[in-house]
Amino acid sequence: MNKRTAVYPGSFDPITYGHLDIIERGLEVFDEIVIAVARNSEKKSLFSAEERIRHIEEAIGDNPNITVDTFDGLLVDYVLSKDARVILRGLRAVSDFEYEFQIAQMNHNLKNEVETLFMMTSVPYGYLSSSIVKEVASLKGPVESLVPPVVRQALAEKFGG
Ligand code: ADP
Repeated sequence: MNKRTAVYPGSFDPITYGHLDIIERGLEVFDEIVIAVARNSEKKSLFSAEERIRHIEEAIGDNPNITVDTFDGLLVDYVLSKDARVILRGLRAVSDFEYEFQIAQMNHNLKNEVETLFMMTSVPYGYLSSSIVKEVASLKGPVESLVPPVVRQALAEKFGG
């Protein structure tokens, strides 16, 4: 039987416990997850793609069912190049819905063999985002309940503290 692979794309700037929760739960459904760090995101990132990858690799440790990669260009092309058919995304508050709905429809239009599956956030992470983490860290607030130690350290180096 073919392996069921999902691509979990995002900025991961930086990775949070919310992302890690989706990855862990995603592995209950899929045999393999490819974490795909977007290089060409329009968002200006705090960490370089290489730094983001290093944080992710350190946070997930050794797991043969997880790969970390970067991608440029159209996500659907990347997904097919990995022999996958599924894009995994997390959903938090209602505010995520509109944007995710648009992108999922567009991706399905581009390649109708690619499906986007959504996983609801776990309650403790409903309002956790990379942006809020950066804001708290920039104001020297505590982030250890929000991000893995490697990210806490990297944020402290960026912002001092
Ligand atoms: P993007 O810039 O593509 O939105 P992010 O790194 O912000 O990238 O998010 C990647 C994916 O992870 C998105 O599907 C997002 O909804 C999901 N995600 C982010 N934070 C959480 C969280 N706390 N709980 C569940 N899903 C999350």
